[in-house]
Amino acid sequence: MATTGLTAKESSFLQIQGWGLGPAATNYALRLKVDNNHLKLAKYSIGIGDRFAHQAKAQLQACVQALQNGVQVIPVWNKSNREHTIIGSEPLSVRRAADAAVRALHWEEPYFCDADHITLQTVDRFLESCDFYTIDVADSIGKPATAADMESFVRRHPELLGRVQLEGVDEHFEVTREDLTRTAEKFLVAVKKAGEVYRRIEKAKGAGNFIPEISMDETDRAQSTMELLIILAAIADEGIPVQTIAPKFSGRFNKGVDYVGDVAQFESELALDVAAITYAVRQYGLPENLKLSVHSGSDKFSIYPAIHATIRRFNAGVHLKTAGTTWLEELIGLAEAGGEGLARAKEIYSEAFARRDEVCQPYAAVIDVDPARLPPPDEVRGWSSEQYTSALRHVSGTAAYNSSFRQLLHVGFKIAARMGRRYLDLLELNEAVIANNVTENLYDRHIGPVFLGRAGTVRNSTGRNA
Ligand SMILES: [Zn+2]
Repeated sequence: MATTGLTAKESSFLQIQGWGLGPAATNYALRLKVDNNHLKLAKYSIGIGDRFAHQAKAQLQACVQALQNGVQVIPVWNKSNREHTIIGSEPLSVRRAADAAVRALHWEEPYFCDADHITLQTVDRFLESCDFYTIDVADSIGKPATAADMESFVRRHPELLGRVQLEGVDEHFEVTREDLTRTAEKFLVAVKKAGEVYRRIEKAKGAGNFIPEISMDETDRAQSTMELLIILAAIADEGIPVQTIAPKFSGRFNKGVDYVGDVAQFESELALDVAAITYAVRQYGLPENLKLSVHSGSDKFSIYPAIHATIRRFNAGVHLKTAGTTWLEELIGLAEAGGEGLARAKEIYSEAFARRDEVCQPYAAVIDVDPARLPPPDEVRGWSSEQYTSALRHVSGTAAYNSSFRQLLHVGFKIAARMGRRYLDLLELNEAVIANNVTENLYDRHIGPVFLGRAGTVRNSTGRNA
């Protein structure tokens, strides 16, 4: 009993619930610890990326609009170590921009800064300025666990053997001892790694003073619902009060463009994953607000209705992580402004085109740029504002929209970063037109369809609102 830290009343509660005093008991204590704390991610939240730390206000304005329409969507500014390294920025700049935006717009709801995709090697520089940590353990998936660890996991989880029925879905799972052992072998090392990173952050910031997310999306194979369930059991064993989890879903989640895959299949997987989370929260005492984090890579418009339908169906929450979509709106705004803005947008394209191998390389696994579809820079140099924006703006189904052009620019932010003040000055000069594009994109095309269940505003062929 002493090890669980529970009062007699709590223990009897567990007995009544039939949870016994196994892992659930320890983790019930874990949940109490979390519930008594302030830092708790709300049901709906959106991860927003702001590569050059100039659009936080325009991004937050989209959350203000959601709130005005009766839906609280909490903003989480995310920036990965990879982005900081490419741009040459520090995590503190994200915090400062977020704080300033919150003050300027009098935002009184919570907001967070996410150290996106960090590992034990990269977490330290984020310890001061972040209060949300996406612990990335994808690299450890598949590293074989020891026989002793696998055995003790299987012994600890008899509930995962045989028929497992999740609430709210018709499907059930039949899990053999071999399935359980094999899955444990594949994921236990990764979960233990997450535990190490979690404890490093906990030591620096104190338990409950940050939101932990665990991500497994940047890997080559999607995780099944059964795998997710086993991963969640292991996470609870490891004592991580995880609030969001990002599995890899089936289908392609390329950067800045739409989903490629079977939408109906995605929707049924999503429903099963949500049901698995409900099960894990009850069974293992994980935080009650635990929810899926969809690392969308931005602009997965065709699955947004499925996400909305699923969160409605299960009364579940979701964290929708986007990133580079805002940087592309900066380019669209500059191009729309014409003059020097348009000239700079063209220059960025032509540089990105010339150095396409270099800018694509870090993102090779998550982009599909078709070189044959990239317009020659000479041709782009002759484009009007309208030609540039309609090729770049993500309105699928329009003849001018060019997903290869868009993806190359999506990963081409390094070029703008190298321009330094030459780029930033133009952002400041054209703040109004850019801000409109940033807010409208986030609100109409992301927040609306996912959280409000409302299709975005339809644009006509000129790209302006119809
Ligand atoms: Zn991710």
